[in-house]
Amino acid sequence: MVEIRPDGYLSPMAQPSGRREPPFSLTADFLRKYDVPGPRYTSYPPAPHFRTGWAPSEILSLVERSNSTGDRNLSFYVHIPFCPKQCLFCGCTTEIGKPGSAVVAYFAALSEEMDQILPLLDENRPVSQIHFGGGTPNAAPVKHLAEVVQRLLRGRKLSDRAEIAIECDPNLVTFKKLAELREAGFNRISFGLQDFDKTVLDSVNRGFPRIEPVDLIGEAHRLGFTGVNLDLIYGLPHQTPVSFAQTVQRTISAKPDRVATFSYAHVPWAKDHQKTLESKGLPDAEAKIAMTVAAFEGFSDAGYHPIGMDHYALPDDELALAQESGQLHRNFQGYCSKRTTGQVVSFGASAISQLHEGYIQNVKESSRYVELVEGGSLPVERAYILTRDERFTRDVINSIMCQGRLDLREIGGAEGMTESEVKDRLAPGLEGLDSFLADGLCTFDGNLLSVTASGHLAVRNLAFLFDPLLGASEGRYSRTV
Ligand code: SF4
Repeated sequence: MVEIRPDGYLSPMAQPSGRREPPFSLTADFLRKYDVPGPRYTSYPPAPHFRTGWAPSEILSLVERSNSTGDRNLSFYVHIPFCPKQCLFCGCTTEIGKPGSAVVAYFAALSEEMDQILPLLDENRPVSQIHFGGGTPNAAPVKHLAEVVQRLLRGRKLSDRAEIAIECDPNLVTFKKLAELREAGFNRISFGLQDFDKTVLDSVNRGFPRIEPVDLIGEAHRLGFTGVNLDLIYGLPHQTPVSFAQTVQRTISAKPDRVATFSYAHVPWAKDHQKTLESKGLPDAEAKIAMTVAAFEGFSDAGYHPIGMDHYALPDDELALAQESGQLHRNFQGYCSKRTTGQVVSFGASAISQLHEGYIQNVKESSRYVELVEGGSLPVERAYILTRDERFTRDVINSIMCQGRLDLREIGGAEGMTESEVKDRLAPGLEGLDSFLADGLCTFDGNLLSVTASGHLAVRNLAFLFDPLLGASEGRYSRTV
């Protein structure tokens, strides 16, 4: 059971003494009502709005302007778009079974792309994060990964408590590999387990790790990795509310610092291989709702703090602490802390840079990426430069999604907007609040919109109110549950 804390967040029952709010239970009715398609807001505007046709000078200027606008600290993202086999639920940009020679050529191109971009970034900007995603970055030789880290840091300083993180397929992790990654400087690791049930994993062409997850996580902790994360997915064939509740309990026993429980996004129009899952029997919406409830109750009872709707973190983990102190943030990797994120400069096929003034996305195919970089061109496919209004909307949506509040007296500050200008701009969204207020999802006193405990679980729906681009034709989105 969970209860509502005075600041509106959900906590397990054991809380400091004092006034207690009535407990809130996540119910199927609640989820049913608020389960609609829409963006996840890992960026604003979402990626489907990015456009082609930019001149190289416009892209380079956007990167350079990040030195003098927005956060000073830099976060580097490196995409490794290769996997040994195709998981049938996969929504990532990756290529399957590429030969070693293609991997070597890709790492050479990464080095050249870094030569194109890094000189544009002020060397005095601290590096607070390096993140390898994919694909399966841990399928690549650690030697190559270490060389990328060294190149990114040449002539630069890591900030205090900087993160060097890698997403791993636990099927390809050994204790030796973990030690090598630690030796190469990695201090954060995320294991994409997806489920503890072997039948579920077999049905999606993903195996169960040779090393038990509890042992992998224990060894990662012993080696000094912090913020150790386990990813789960719900909504896969053969998953039931009961089997998923068991997976939640086994996850808790494995003691990760963080857990991400992603709702399986079925987008067969974009990912052809996902069609195969339809014949294996996907759980219906009711079952998925019950799984969401199982995860929420299981992790909350075990002392994990819910972060947004799909992340959970132990109370002393940086994500939970960031939420407590209003420092939670969001980027393409999901929830993160403001301390580590800064402006994200990304490298590799399909990688997206998230800068104060805009976004830049590289071409998706690795062979095209290598060809462009080798030919001396920028490997950019699409980009977006935000207007002042759009930067303001991004602040509004981030404030709701990450801080669970929107203060009309503060939110326009970064863009130099007056309070009355802010109220005018937000008026259409505020007019849509009535049903949220009636359902107890938020409070609003004319200046401060506060998301309540139950509202925290429909926070994307609240953000939709303030998104003027919602409903524009670009993109089809997965559902909120
Ligand atoms: S390992 Fe990850 S990126 Fe690769 S196919 Fe599986 S889900 Fe997709």
